[in-house]
Amino acid sequence: MVTITHIETRDVRFPTSLDKTGSDAMNAAGDYSAAYCVLYTDGKHEGHGMTFTIGRGNEIVCSAISHLADRIRGRTLDSLVSNWGKTWRHLVNDSQLRWIGPEKGVIHLALGAVVNAIWDLWAKELGKPVWRIVADMTPQQIVDMIDFRYITDALTPEEALDILTKAEQGKEGRLKEALQSRAVPAYTTSAGWLGYGQDKMRGLLRETLSKGYKHFKLKVGGDVAQDRERLGIAREIIGFDKGNVLMVDANQVWSVPEAISYMEQLKEFKPWFIEEPTSPDDVLGHKAIREALKPYGIGVATGEMCQNRVMFKQFLASGAIDICQIDACRLGGVNEVIAVLLMAAKFKVPIVPHSGGVGLPEYTQHLSTIDYVVVSGKKSVLEYVDHLHEHFFHPSEIRDGYYVTPTDPGYSVEMKPESMERFGFPGKEGVSWWRGEEARGILEGERI
Ligand SMILES: [Mg+2]
Repeated sequence: MVTITHIETRDVRFPTSLDKTGSDAMNAAGDYSAAYCVLYTDGKHEGHGMTFTIGRGNEIVCSAISHLADRIRGRTLDSLVSNWGKTWRHLVNDSQLRWIGPEKGVIHLALGAVVNAIWDLWAKELGKPVWRIVADMTPQQIVDMIDFRYITDALTPEEALDILTKAEQGKEGRLKEALQSRAVPAYTTSAGWLGYGQDKMRGLLRETLSKGYKHFKLKVGGDVAQDRERLGIAREIIGFDKGNVLMVDANQVWSVPEAISYMEQLKEFKPWFIEEPTSPDDVLGHKAIREALKPYGIGVATGEMCQNRVMFKQFLASGAIDICQIDACRLGGVNEVIAVLLMAAKFKVPIVPHSGGVGLPEYTQHLSTIDYVVVSGKKSVLEYVDHLHEHFFHPSEIRDGYYVTPTDPGYSVEMKPESMERFGFPGKEGVSWWRGEEARGILEGERI
């Protein structure tokens, strides 16, 4: 019987804005950051969870994590995971904290870190990777982990049970594929950041193509003439008829009419989908864009900033999106993600998780594996960005265009202590990068 004795948060920021890694039409210069949570126990394992931000404000999420995690201090792991549905509800039900959500924004980002830290601890205690815990559950056990409040009009527990029971057929075969690292094909955004020059982009496209990737995503939305040029280069390298797929991502910069007319000017490059064409809260807007772009064969994707299962319900049930992009820690951890996977399965919308951020590929490889083996039976193409993996004990890895299925116990986001110290913010004098001369350009520069 393991008890959670105390909790620590860490504010860790990587200075990715220096080389414009992660730059897009909305986020000009992000410093990939982790609002990080460690659950200490009286046993031999710790639970590690994090949520992702892009820099300033990361300390606000850390503060919210402390408030939420306090609700499980002194609790046994067993009491938390034996009735997950109740635990999840308990975590969102502090009436005073709930006022600063509810179930959205900073407080929900923090929830993702805490819930995932419990999963990490549980997985380490069981000696399994997180995806395998879910793969070994019965359909009823999975249903019992979900808080169905607010979604029963779209998906009842009985329907969820039915989806999972039907998916039992063929599960053995899919499990075998997972164990052979053939469950989760990867796509790459490495070449596509808006701040990269053309030579860097060409080089990265050629490099990723030679590594076996078939899906490539480029950021768009800065300038249509430049985007046409960039997409032309991409198509020149990956071709139109070689089985390679191009996707584009606008990171919310457009109004609805702007999205439609801008994309009409990119239609000859035949993107599979436009990601985040407008506000992540605009269900009607996404639906209008989807209908306008349908004649060109361009789909609409969103989800990385979709606040919770309630918003996803609306996008999915109203037919507003072609692609559902769950995020491992913007949603309230594994439990809420599975609720969304089930709704997407019901409405037959494929899952393409959001994974562009520090720690996200480490998390989402488990979720895509769960979706394939346990829920939809369909392979989701999963984003992979080749940055910052060296800071984790069990980094995600790509082989022959597929994610290598994680086998180490846990949720794969345990960060090395030296990385946490080195990139801790504001950090210790003489230890943290942020205290050095090099950091002054970011700390004292213009805030864009
Ligand atoms: Mg995106």
